[in-house]
Amino acid sequence: MFIMSIAIASALFQGTAPTVQWGGANSGVNQTRIQLVTDAEMLKEVWQFTHGDSIAGLPQINFDRCRVVLACRGREMNVQRVTAMEIDQVQQETILTIDAEQSSRVDGNPPEETTAWGLFIIPMMPELVRVRVDVSQDRDGEPQWETIAILGHDANQRQRGGEQAGRQDSRFGEPGPRSSSHSEISQEFEDHLERMRRPFTKKLAQPPHYFISHGYDERWSRAIKLGIDVARDYLGNHGPVQVYIVGQEDDELSDPAHRDAIAETFCKVHNAGSDQPMEDCLSRDGQEMTQKAIDGETEAFMTMAMDADPPTAELVFINAHTMGGEEMMPTRSIHEYTHVYQKSFEFTPTWMMEGGAEFLACHLGEQHGWGDRDQTMEWYARQLDQVEDLEYTISDMEEIETAMPDVARWHRELAYDAGAWAVAFAISKSPSRSISQYYRSFYPMVDEMGWQAALCQYTRMDNIDSFYEGFESLSQQPLADRLAMLGTLKD
Ligand SMILES: [Zn+2]
Repeated sequence: MFIMSIAIASALFQGTAPTVQWGGANSGVNQTRIQLVTDAEMLKEVWQFTHGDSIAGLPQINFDRCRVVLACRGREMNVQRVTAMEIDQVQQETILTIDAEQSSRVDGNPPEETTAWGLFIIPMMPELVRVRVDVSQDRDGEPQWETIAILGHDANQRQRGGEQAGRQDSRFGEPGPRSSSHSEISQEFEDHLERMRRPFTKKLAQPPHYFISHGYDERWSRAIKLGIDVARDYLGNHGPVQVYIVGQEDDELSDPAHRDAIAETFCKVHNAGSDQPMEDCLSRDGQEMTQKAIDGETEAFMTMAMDADPPTAELVFINAHTMGGEEMMPTRSIHEYTHVYQKSFEFTPTWMMEGGAEFLACHLGEQHGWGDRDQTMEWYARQLDQVEDLEYTISDMEEIETAMPDVARWHRELAYDAGAWAVAFAISKSPSRSISQYYRSFYPMVDEMGWQAALCQYTRMDNIDSFYEGFESLSQQPLADRLAMLGTLKD
């Protein structure tokens, strides 16, 4: 057994390879996978994952002082091991440089198929971890870095409602055809992004499907459904949608049979059409919602079963009873359902997705007695006004999945708080000033001409810079003037 000392964790900032790493040529993991491991339970899971379900040799690590990154190369020829070359701290991020190159073959030995893996100890801070590889062909020349994953996006998690947008889980999908070039890893990441950008829901008749975890108080599923139905009435019925409501107020999830049943329900949808073996989903992704519910976490987010036919939007609500009570809960589900609607159309930027979901949640929430729209907007404005070191604007928050960590740490402020105001600003610049018109007519325009041209036409601005400048100057106005702008909007 290894016991990680504090000294080892703190010795890792020197720009050298991590002192402790494990790895080998065969993990049995067929797909590229980069994962951050932050507690003993997760470590046990990934250890079993790479050791044919065995916990033999499981190291003991002090997770109060350090973290671990798992990197699996996937099925390849002659990759003997994934190795960490260097660990560094640059501008509020930890940079982990890894190598998963083919080793040169010893003459006479036949090529060998491998599923190489590596597990590396990294420091606690900086929180964001950029995992990169050198893709230059010339090993003696200048390195050419490519980021293959950004991990530890805790800064992106929404505090109220605990939402993770984008829900990038740093698995790059299918492994490429037999090749070990690192640019193929990032090509997979690019392909994955490309698929995420495309629309995947549509207008249809079929209502959402609901799964409610065992014994969870009906009050919460009722509140979630109320919000979703209000949004469906307003935006039209889009989907297909599978809703998972998983929660524990007492010990509702203590029965392992229930936890497995939840995993089965989830994986049947989420893993449909995917290359990932069902058992992997059942033992890992399928257990995640339940584990979070048991751990007392609060999360609401949209994810997607992208390989399912048809692709299915999945709305996940974990511990809904901790999301502001029955009076506010429906606004969380309005927010999530707005994403289902938005994803029926071509790409729109992160600030517009989150801002639009947030603003509609406030607006419809007020119409149905769940909060006061302008009070909530005022709260967002005050939050923004209070931040002192925010050097970015919504124009830097067009795609969270590819944002630099320095920008990504402002996800909440830029995408949600400022985003909601930016959407309200856009509506105020439209001829009708009508909120319902924005959702119903602007999005079809995005399909026709792309979001930038659509936004310019809709707001009667010359170009996107004028829009961004207009919004920045609104943000400088006294709060009372900004609130007066909200007062000019119609339903
Ligand atoms: Zn959202």
